[in-house]
Amino acid sequence: MIGPILPGAAVGVLGSGQLGRMFAIAARRMGYRVHVLSPDDDTPAGQVADVEVRAPYEDSDAIRRFARGVSAVTFEFENVPSSAADAAAEIVPVRPRGSVLHIAQHRLREKTFLSDHGFPVTPFARSTSAEETASAAARLGFPCVLKTAGFGYDGKGQIKLAAPRDVPAAWAKLGATEAVLEAFVDFEREVSVVAARGADGSFAHHGVFENRHARHILDVTTAPADVLPETADRAAEIARGILETLDVVGVLCVEFFLLRDGRTLLVNELAPRPHNSGHLTFDASVTCQFEQQLRAVCGLPLGDPSLLKPAAMANLLGDLWEHGVPDFAAALATPDVKLHLYGKAEARPGRKMGHLTAFGRTASEAAAKVVFARDALVARRLH
Ligand code: AMP
Repeated sequence: MIGPILPGAAVGVLGSGQLGRMFAIAARRMGYRVHVLSPDDDTPAGQVADVEVRAPYEDSDAIRRFARGVSAVTFEFENVPSSAADAAAEIVPVRPRGSVLHIAQHRLREKTFLSDHGFPVTPFARSTSAEETASAAARLGFPCVLKTAGFGYDGKGQIKLAAPRDVPAAWAKLGATEAVLEAFVDFEREVSVVAARGADGSFAHHGVFENRHARHILDVTTAPADVLPETADRAAEIARGILETLDVVGVLCVEFFLLRDGRTLLVNELAPRPHNSGHLTFDASVTCQFEQQLRAVCGLPLGDPSLLKPAAMANLLGDLWEHGVPDFAAALATPDVKLHLYGKAEARPGRKMGHLTAFGRTASEAAAKVVFARDALVARRLH
C-alpha cells in the first residue's frame, strides 16, 4: 500500500457546497491544500479552498486536469456522475471509490444492494409505469411512497400514495422513467450513524444521532440519541457492515427509521460522505466528521470520534432571511451557541444557509437551547 498523504499535499474535492466548505476548513487547519471543482464559482467550498475550478462534472478532460494537481480526490456531493470519479481515478486515488458513488446516488441500486446483502430495508419494488406502480402498490399496501430511482435528496422526487386512485396522478407528477415504490414506514423516530473507514480497514463511528425533519428537510439533530444501548450497538454494527461490504475508504452516513418497538431499525438511505446530521461533530466531538474524512482519504489513522458533551444542531434555512438579515447577535447571546454560515449570497426558501450548534447537560437540553437560539434570529421581527 502507498504511504499516507501528508500535510502540505493538496486534496481535491468534487462538489463545492457546505460539506466541501467544512471539509476544506478541517483540511486547511491540518496544513493541507484544498482544490475544489464544481460547475459554479464563488461557492461555499471555493471561498475557503486554495483553488476553485469551475467545470462541468461531465468534462472528463477537466476532471483529469484537476486530478493532476492533487494527491487524492474525494467528493462532498453524491450526485456527481460516477464518470467524473472514474476520470479522476485514472490519475490519483479516489476515496470512496466511484462504485460507492454509483450505488449511493441511485435509490433503486442502493436498496437492491442493501437487501441483497441482508441489511434491513422497508419492502420495495421497481416500477417503470403507472400500471407497474399500481400492481406493486397492491402488493406492498397503502400508504406507500413513490420515489424517483435516481438523483433525489431532502425528500425531492417523492410522493406519498394514500389509495389506488392516487397512482396515475402521482406517476405523472413524478415525471420519471424509473421509480422505487416503498412501503410506508410508521416509524417512531429517525436516527443516523456517521461512520468512517480508514485505508487500513479501521472503523470509527460518531454514535447515534436523532434527526427531526420539517418539510422533508433535516431540521434538528441531537446527540446522543435517546435509544436503547442495544439499539445503538445494532445501528453501529449495521453501519460497519455497510462500510465493509462497500469497501468504503472515507465517511459514510447511514440514515435509519427506528420502529415503535424501539429495536427494529430499517435503513432508509446512505450518503457516502459527511452528512448534515454530523455537523454537530464540528463543535462537539474530539474528531469531527470532516477531519475524519480527511484522515481516511489521506490514509492517516482515524481520530477519536467521541462526543465531548451532549449537543444539538439546528439548520438555518433561507426562509429565516425572508424579512431581512437574521439577528445573529440575539442568537449568540447564549454563550455556548456556535454559528456556522456557508457563504451563500442568495437566501432562498428551503436553502441550507448555515446551522447553529448548542450544548447541554442532556441532548434534550441542548435541543431546547439550539431551537431557542434559532427562534431568536427572527423573534424581534415578529413582535
Ligand atoms: P428520503 O429523501 O428518501 O431520505 O426521504 C426524506 C424523508 O421522507 C425521510 O427522512 C422520511 O422522513 C420520509 N420518508 C421517506 N421514505 C419513507 C417511507 N418509506 N416511509 C415513511 N417515511 C418516509
